[in-house]
Amino acid sequence: MSRLLVIGCGGVAQVAIQKCCQNSETFTELMIASRTEEKCIALREKIEKAGTAVKLETARVNADSVDELVSLIRAYKPDAVLNVALPYQDLAVMEACLACKVDYIDTANYEPEDTDDPEWRAIYEKRVREKGFTAYFDYSWQWAYGEKFKEANLTALLGSGFDPGVTSVFTAYAAKHYFDVIDTIDILDCNGGDHGYPFATNFNPEINLREVSANGSYLENGRWVETKPMEIKRVYDFPQVGKKDMYLLHHEEIEALGRNFPEVKRIRFFMTFGQSYLTHMKCLENVGMLSTSPVSFEGHKIVPIQFLKALLPDPASLGPRTVGKTNIGCIFTGRKDGKERRIYIYNVCDHQECCRELGSQAISYTTGVPAMIGAALVVKGLWKKPGVFTTDEFDPDPYMEMLNQYGLPWVVDENPVLVD
Ligand code: NDP
Repeated sequence: MSRLLVIGCGGVAQVAIQKCCQNSETFTELMIASRTEEKCIALREKIEKAGTAVKLETARVNADSVDELVSLIRAYKPDAVLNVALPYQDLAVMEACLACKVDYIDTANYEPEDTDDPEWRAIYEKRVREKGFTAYFDYSWQWAYGEKFKEANLTALLGSGFDPGVTSVFTAYAAKHYFDVIDTIDILDCNGGDHGYPFATNFNPEINLREVSANGSYLENGRWVETKPMEIKRVYDFPQVGKKDMYLLHHEEIEALGRNFPEVKRIRFFMTFGQSYLTHMKCLENVGMLSTSPVSFEGHKIVPIQFLKALLPDPASLGPRTVGKTNIGCIFTGRKDGKERRIYIYNVCDHQECCRELGSQAISYTTGVPAMIGAALVVKGLWKKPGVFTTDEFDPDPYMEMLNQYGLPWVVDENPVLVD
């Protein structure tokens, strides 16, 4: 018996909410609150029409405002808040959860909307100098809440999507069941899907394009090695998808895994991109459309990447058009009982099957299912401890079991081809 407040009603939220409704033993009441309440109402009507035991309510909320969030949380009195709006809202939602003494779950770590803000920029530049990676997002902002959550006896579970999220659970699972020592981790994110548009992103375009146009980086012997965007390319033959070009990116779970598994010598993250996607992105970047700094246009201030988002297809609408599969997982090398070992844990997800089940494409699906699982484990008390944590810091077994149960079955290959 629990009440969950979900913030956001985009592609990921729509999957997470429908999956919560499939898990009505855990979630008995659910509030969908977002900036555009019409989307929340449309989703509630869709779910109620299909039939659900969960009592659904909706609200409008501006999640940039701690005051609005506090009023909503005080009125609804949820057991936990699942934040599946944007990373820009993470700190406001965490503040509100602390003020109301409610547990917090999200799928992506904080990054600022305005990267020109001088106060943020000074802290960012110090971090770049100290740590050596230039990504706009990092865990420091949310880890800084660790003591406050601990004192309040609350749990904040960060990054419970697929990557980050499941990839870190795979790491905890590999460490628990397969290795005495893990030496290397390669996280491989392959989307073999085709939506038929010349250019579209599979999750929020602004967040996605910021991430993939940035410098790459990886951790080696405890130090960050930074690369130019798309500088390191490999080809990998993905089970059930086939051969794809993949490129090394900076990704947030590298930071958390590096902190929590300091013995691992190298952690890298690769994502697949087709040449057409990269050419479009480069062209948009070259003409300034990926810029996050406002420009004046006919007397208005507009942020180019936000304007671009308005032109691109809504990721939540790609479900019916997308065919093909995703394959996301981790290749681990290390030792067990004195012998060398390598394993590959991955999930394959079919875009059309996701669409048949929930009307969504596989990227929203593979993120929304783990968001529901994270929230379920926190409210059930299985993943409950005071402080701020990532998904590799709990017992992975119940999470792995729920992945199988809720549509993301995984495979352990004990003799994978390694990435060079
Ligand atoms: P969408 O853009 O589809 O949805 C975002 C939702 O948040 C929209 O409903 C939007 O409202 C709402 N929102 C935005 N700003 C506010 C605000 N100030 N107040 C209230 N609501 C707001 O994004 P996605 O669903 O694709 O992504 C959601 C999250 O999931 C992102 O943080 C993304 O980074 C993360 N993600 C994580 C992945 C992982 O594997 N860990 C993978 C993919 C995504 P409106 O409808 O009005 O626009």
